[in-house]
Amino acid sequence: MPEKISIAEARKAESVGKNVILQGWVRTRRDSKGGFSFLELNDGSCFGNIQVIAEAALPNYESEIKKLTAGSSVRVEGEVKASPGKGQATEVQAKSVAVYGFADVETYPLQKKGHSFEFLRTIAHLRPRTNTFGAVARVRNCVCNSIHQFFQEEGFLYLHTPIITASDCEGAGAMFQVTALNLEKLPRGENGVDYHLDFFDRPTYLTVSGQLEAETYACGLGRMYTFGPTFRAENSNTPRHLAEFWMVEPEAAFFDIFDDMDLAERLLKRIFSDVLQQCPEDMDFFNQRIDKTVIATLRHVLDSEFRRVTYTEAMEILQQSGESFEFPVAWGSDLQSEHERYLTEKHFRQPVILYDYPRTIKPFYMRLNDDQKTVRAMDVLVPKVGEIIGGSQREERLDVLEMRMREQDLKPEDYWWYLDLRRYGTAPHSGFGLGVERVLLSITGMANIRDIIPFPRTPGNAEF
Ligand code: ATP
Ligand code: MN
Repeated sequence: MPEKISIAEARKAESVGKNVILQGWVRTRRDSKGGFSFLELNDGSCFGNIQVIAEAALPNYESEIKKLTAGSSVRVEGEVKASPGKGQATEVQAKSVAVYGFADVETYPLQKKGHSFEFLRTIAHLRPRTNTFGAVARVRNCVCNSIHQFFQEEGFLYLHTPIITASDCEGAGAMFQVTALNLEKLPRGENGVDYHLDFFDRPTYLTVSGQLEAETYACGLGRMYTFGPTFRAENSNTPRHLAEFWMVEPEAAFFDIFDDMDLAERLLKRIFSDVLQQCPEDMDFFNQRIDKTVIATLRHVLDSEFRRVTYTEAMEILQQSGESFEFPVAWGSDLQSEHERYLTEKHFRQPVILYDYPRTIKPFYMRLNDDQKTVRAMDVLVPKVGEIIGGSQREERLDVLEMRMREQDLKPEDYWWYLDLRRYGTAPHSGFGLGVERVLLSITGMANIRDIIPFPRTPGNAEF
């Protein structure tokens, strides 16, 4: 009985001699004068295709096999043979080729190769069939798996924090409102819309971060991490921002900011080394076709220690750099991506962890330093992408936290449950957020974050 196996399996030399069933999509068909055809078949199990040889003697050779074009789906039964061809260990001599579905040459959009990424975004439902999007999908899977393994091995518990939230948390960004009210007929009260008539009896939003909820579990169970979608309604049309993106957020009790930095560095290194080890074919593709430096950059990151530099030191470096930046460099203002990239690409030429930012540009929950001017924030910057991780040691002192909330016009009563963590058995703790798509940008060298997530949500775009 022939065995149903993946093309990844069939391409291994050990499979030679096996009778197999392969199922996938035709990438190309070439007809040879000698009376047979070559089909290049792909099923997504790996980057490479397998070559199938279909002889003219097959009963449906003229009626079907010679009509197969890019995008058609087939089931091939045959024997795996050692391939005389270069760059492939095996090929399959077909005993039968059954067609599941043809793809019309006239209308199938991926008939030709070399479409632009912009065009492929308009056919997000078909782009998984291209080399690039197959490679992105496999590397994305590898990264997510690696993240889970890393935290499990480090003793962190995977926590599901809510997607719908009432805490308009930390001003991390503009929020999407969630409502069951009829927007055509909003119930009005004295001060505008009467949210007591809405589903949750109050205004609710899509979460921008699971941090505050993760803190509640960390302050009781120690080490937690959330990994889920987050949403930001800011209108930032950049190649690094999405309205819906995936974030990993560890939160750990008894971690200070330096433990937090070490965790971030170990996590990134683990992800990079897993990808290099587990997706070599996909990485070779990115290195050849997308960015000739990606593999060298990842290896360099793996070999170097991340530099830890205070915000104040970084400002001095930027001021003395002699660069003409578009945005001014002044103590107290946030770093722009041009500044981040200068530091990590030109000055240090390695990943940099900036910490101790001015209190005025960071959220209330970050721990106030003794200088009263800075907070225990830390951002990890990597070449080409800039900020990839943002985190901090959290303020564990009740009175300081309440003071910082008032300073930022937040009402402590609204956060009573968050303050309870400081009221009862408060503990130093820290955490960070890592944007999965930002990591993937840095790994693959892809230029636009819209090509890193299957169905990008950006201003004006949610069709697929
Ligand atoms: P940025 O300054 O780049 O807009 P941020 O400081 O608002 O990001 P944080 O709130 O610190 O971001 O979020 C933590 C991490 O989530 C960031 O380091 C980044 O990796 C990722 N991230 C933030 N916003 C986005 C976005 N709109 N799209 C994709 N990833 C994002
Ligand atoms: Mn940030």
